[in-house]
Amino acid sequence: MKIKSLTLNGFKSFANKTIINFQDGLTGIVGPNGSGKSNITEALRWVLGEQSVKNLRGSKMPDIIFAGSDTRAALNRAEVTLVLDNEDGYLYNQPNEIRITRRIFRSGDSEFFINEKKVRLKDVVDLFIDTGLGRESFSIISQGRVESIFNSKPQDRRILIEEVAGVLKYKKEKKKAESELVETTEHLKRVADILSELS
Ligand code: ATP
Repeated sequence: MKIKSLTLNGFKSFANKTIINFQDGLTGIVGPNGSGKSNITEALRWVLGEQSVKNLRGSKMPDIIFAGSDTRAALNRAEVTLVLDNEDGYLYNQPNEIRITRRIFRSGDSEFFINEKKVRLKDVVDLFIDTGLGRESFSIISQGRVESIFNSKPQDRRILIEEVAGVLKYKKEKKKAESELVETTEHLKRVADILSELS
């Protein structure tokens, strides 16, 4: 699976429709301070379903819509489209090309589309679960994150490593299975009680 392109339209400093085509190999985005490099990674995060405004350096979701400049009025909506090349079938049961679009209006209403079909946030999140590209994955590491990882307590770092290694998911499943086991044991005891009452 590869990123083919990212299109920003009205997202933060990208008032005009801007298409970034990714070629094979490594892509570096360079530019002066404040030119919008971080905004590009945030657009990627956002289209993948980011719900935390803090992670997008805003205080409310509509803050990501172009707020206007000396020469241009503010816009009323922002849209980001991510096109993925899935020719290797990395995303199981999905077409060779996948287009994910997210749109937001000043009212705060947000819409998601997968291959032009309107979907829920959950559908986008589910599409990327366990692929390493989801909104909570570590494929996007923001400024300051590396430092905070090094400065964190060993216990917190362990949680992080478990998350990266995919252990947390199994821990959660284990906890769920254990509570189901307790519940089933209670049911069995109840059945045994009824049986002894009947015999
Ligand atoms: P640095 O190299 O300093 O990290 P950068 O290239 O990563 O900078 P960004 O942080 O991506 O730059 O972009 C910051 C710019 O985006 C600022 O000029 C800011 O005013 C602008 N910006 C952020 N949100 C909006 C918005 N909603 N509307 C218009 N411009 C915005």
